[in-house]
Amino acid sequence: MTAAGAKALGLLPGLVLPTKFEPKVQEHVSCGCCGSDQYETIHHFPENYFDPEWFDTYSWDANLGLELRIVECKDCGLIYQNKRFSPEALHQLYPNTYIPAKINKVKEIANHKFAFHIDWIKKHMGNTKNPSLLDVGTRYGVFPNLLRREKMDAFGIEMNLKCVQAACNSGMEEVYLGTIDSLNNVMDSRAQKQIDAVAMFDLIEHLLDPKGDLKAIAKYQPKGGKLFISTMDISSMGYKVFGKDWYYLHGQHTFYFTPKTITALLESAGYRVVSIDRFGALKSLRHLPGQFRKWMKFQWTMRWGVKGEQEWFAKYRPHLLDTMNIVAEKK
Ligand SMILES: [Zn+2]
Repeated sequence: MTAAGAKALGLLPGLVLPTKFEPKVQEHVSCGCCGSDQYETIHHFPENYFDPEWFDTYSWDANLGLELRIVECKDCGLIYQNKRFSPEALHQLYPNTYIPAKINKVKEIANHKFAFHIDWIKKHMGNTKNPSLLDVGTRYGVFPNLLRREKMDAFGIEMNLKCVQAACNSGMEEVYLGTIDSLNNVMDSRAQKQIDAVAMFDLIEHLLDPKGDLKAIAKYQPKGGKLFISTMDISSMGYKVFGKDWYYLHGQHTFYFTPKTITALLESAGYRVVSIDRFGALKSLRHLPGQFRKWMKFQWTMRWGVKGEQEWFAKYRPHLLDTMNIVAEKK
């Protein structure tokens, strides 16, 4: 603001106004399940844990060189990131640059990796005729478009505008821009009152308020309505073996559930757990030697760096038998 402008507004001379609103990047939070503030730190990664000369850390700390702290609630055992990115700064952890303007629909549908998920959902939906299904965080809408071929009234919501634009440009059906907070708008535009099934794949661990979001979804589900969740399990063999080097520890992941803590969260949001499964557990054991080789390479790069261009920090971070698939139903 110019001095003349300040005078016109009646401001005192010498008063300095901020030129730009700078939101706080990280904030402390209470336990997302029981609300307790009592926790103990289970991992602390100091600032610049990954050397910025060697590593691209966009999903770790938005390349800001920030510390990462993972804590466990002393009251309910929930493991979560604290402090963590604030709602205002969160977009920095999710850069848009790698999202294309268009995808190849035929190729995406032909090469999909949802065979397990489709069978899983069909099995649990039983005889429900033309069930409605919401896929939360649908990206380009591949999953709901596959389910529409299975005679389900499937639709997806996605918070990233560029993904929704790419989906629309590519002929994907029923992909809506929005988050769980704005679900009412999508329901209105589809003239729909209830949702028989909701899918959340690799999503719940990214949410800022999973309990609030599950409660919001529950409002649209009938008694017995199904919820299908895939998320990584921090009591898995992979985490036990690889510990602080585990692939899934990073800034984008705000919550780290176990079968026990996801059950408690779902119960508190109005759901009952029906089953918790792991798909292809035996098959993935053959990846064990490869994951160990990756782990050695990871340790090498942490110590000696990488040649040439920066590498994504998680390129060599290992994982093993980590995903749990949860079916819950509305109480
Ligand atoms: Zn707690």
